[in-house]
Amino acid sequence: MNRIRTLRRYLKKIKKLRPQMEELSDHALSDLTRKFRARLSHGEELDALLCEAFAAICEADARVLGKYPYDVQILGGLALHFGFLAQMNTGEGKTLTATMPLYLNALTGKSVILVTTNSYLARRDASEMGEVFEFMGLRVAAGVPENPSVQFTGDEKRLIYAADIVYTTNSALGFDYLLHNLVTTAEERFLRDFYYVVVDEADSVLLDSARMPLIISGAPHVQSNLYELANFFVSSLSKGRDYEQDELRVWLTEEGIARAEDFFQVSNFYGKENFELNRHVALALRAHTLFRKEKEYVVTEKRSDEPKARGGAGKGAWGSESVGKDRPEREVILLDEAQGRAMPGVKLRGGQHQAIEAKEGVLLTNENRSVATITYQNLFQLFPKLSGMSGTIDDAKDEFRAIYGLSVLIIPTNRPLRRIDEKDFYFQTAEEQLDCAMRDVLKIHETGQPVLIVAETIAQTELVSSVLVREKIAHSVLNANNAAWEAKIIAEAGQKHAVTVATSMAGRGTDIKLSEGVSELGGLAVIGLGRMENVRIEMQARGRAGRQGDPGFSRFYVSLSDEVVVKNSEKRFQMTTRRFSRAKLKRIISEAQRLGQERAVSARRQAFDYDYVISRQRGVIYEMRNRLLSGAPFGRKEFFQVANAVILDFLSKEKKPGKAEVKRFLLENVTYQITESPKNYEKLRKKELFAYLFHQVEESFARKAACYQEEAALEEFLRKTMLKTIDDAWVEQVDYLQQLQSAVRGRSTAQKNPVFEYQVEAQHCFEQMKKTVGRELLRGVLL
Ligand code: ADP
Ligand code: MG
Repeated sequence: MNRIRTLRRYLKKIKKLRPQMEELSDHALSDLTRKFRARLSHGEELDALLCEAFAAICEADARVLGKYPYDVQILGGLALHFGFLAQMNTGEGKTLTATMPLYLNALTGKSVILVTTNSYLARRDASEMGEVFEFMGLRVAAGVPENPSVQFTGDEKRLIYAADIVYTTNSALGFDYLLHNLVTTAEERFLRDFYYVVVDEADSVLLDSARMPLIISGAPHVQSNLYELANFFVSSLSKGRDYEQDELRVWLTEEGIARAEDFFQVSNFYGKENFELNRHVALALRAHTLFRKEKEYVVTEKRSDEPKARGGAGKGAWGSESVGKDRPEREVILLDEAQGRAMPGVKLRGGQHQAIEAKEGVLLTNENRSVATITYQNLFQLFPKLSGMSGTIDDAKDEFRAIYGLSVLIIPTNRPLRRIDEKDFYFQTAEEQLDCAMRDVLKIHETGQPVLIVAETIAQTELVSSVLVREKIAHSVLNANNAAWEAKIIAEAGQKHAVTVATSMAGRGTDIKLSEGVSELGGLAVIGLGRMENVRIEMQARGRAGRQGDPGFSRFYVSLSDEVVVKNSEKRFQMTTRRFSRAKLKRIISEAQRLGQERAVSARRQAFDYDYVISRQRGVIYEMRNRLLSGAPFGRKEFFQVANAVILDFLSKEKKPGKAEVKRFLLENVTYQITESPKNYEKLRKKELFAYLFHQVEESFARKAACYQEEAALEEFLRKTMLKTIDDAWVEQVDYLQQLQSAVRGRSTAQKNPVFEYQVEAQHCFEQMKKTVGRELLRGVLL
């Protein structure tokens, strides 16, 4: 409340400047950009320009687009500049709102980005708002290609990210960040340092998409034969005796562990030496308990036109599948949790996909190496200034604060909300639910009022559609995966007599305008079919109606058969023939939704916790390689520092290494030509041994260095070798951490906290990795 009051003070000042801006010629207005930048370069603070810059871009919005931002939009713009999450309802004009903080922050010349959920929206907004920015002398680019099958080249990307303002999607940005940090020369880099980002549809991007990390895959692993063995072993276990589970986790009991040790003939199942074993058992156990056929995945006949090689997202994914003769060609395809949509080509990581394949007796596909990963939580933490906007944020404000450290500011609507959000209608069975909903749809439709039916799953949209076909009612169904097409159709949903059937996410971000005479009929009617996965999705659906003070109403028809209830409550509620009271139905259904929401929150929290360590490590590595790429000195001095550390580490054990061990160390890391060996080895003190080893390094280095006439060439060689060494070690580390995650997830018990265990082990590995880098550098340079 207080905050809004502060923002209102700025608003007042900005509006005071309006007449002054209106008087400026087009040229004088656009020339302000240059003047603002000059003032910044003379040391003025960005906030000192705030009011003038906002007033200028508002005037430009009016001249170029014919839309002067409403007061509430200016408040929203201020909130975004000050790093809040602005809750602004659908139709309040968030796209225009963002022009203000984007313009102000772009004056700094640093990288300013707007992120949204899909390519269609990114391109739409880049081109529509681009006109205003271009008028003001700034360059705007869309960070996603028009045709998704044609990737940008490195040069194109460099041009895009050099623009003053980039409109892009979360996934394009995430993959670009990873790819940017995989290049091997300074010239290939294309990103600028992140500075300011506005995330549109912030809850969808920052929460709903944040469960799965982005992963770039590389060459496949050598196929393990443990999948089938682990699958066989797990098939023989029984719940309660050998393992326990909750919704997210499953773990072996003491009894189960004993059985595993017996089955695999090992003495310490959780010992380091059995890492691969317990990883595979954990994967198989999850495959058998947490992944249900027809729910989380389906098994289908492989389409014959499909290319054999297929990998995860990103570059360099290859895999050659050998096709077995005696096995049917079937494959495991994941289902999108929210919508039940099949996701061909998407694979679970860390071997989970292969474990499910083993369970289903499907030919195992290749398990690709993970080369680079990041979660959205961590991607967005990389921006010094992060802000976001959406119509449905407030409901998740605690989570936003905990994970992103962001606060929500509720921006008032431009006009009072006239939409009526009715109470839910409760039903026991799906038949009653659909029946009643469709009868009401028909009644509304007869009056000419447009109806938007929002269903929970694709299957439901098809069911609704078949009823409408039977009733001979023309309608559109939105469940294809084509955002541009969906946007076009849903924009028409406010026409008289229109009937539109959509899943909750379809056409998000598209404005539904009412046609002539529809207001008099009561505006858009939103009919929700089924309790949604969370309240935010319901609010999104309701928000389709009643934009900018339009009339409209929304009503949900919910039942015990709704996906969210089936998933999150006891089966007996669905099986029973007893009739429940409305109050009881309400309790069961609401409880199920609450539970589902909680589970989603904790799954995201888990992803965040697991990623915490790796993100710290990634930060260290990326900074190191960036310094190397940018030409930070890496010459003789630095090399010998590393050599020094490697030798010290070698000698750090309590006991002096034996003569043979020393020889092996030299042969493996330093030289094949050992010039002299120490006499009286037994009498040698560690210090003398150190001197001897260091001398060997110097001699070997001198021989190498002699090959380079110029010092610069030698340094280039050293730098390149260091970079490659770091990259190789890091790729191993990333991949190992992926595997470690799947292994420790199987170790959770009442006493053990798997995340903690993971973090400890991951940290330990990183220390190991640093040592490995040192040795590998020696080896790379000297041998
Ligand atoms: P949101 O993203 O908040 O749902 P949009 O940015 O899609 O809303 O804008 C909704 C509609 O309102 C668009 O047609 C847009 O052109 C229009 N609009 C936004 N701001 C203004 C304004 N200040 N004056 C007139 N029309 C506006
Ligand atoms: Mg929008």
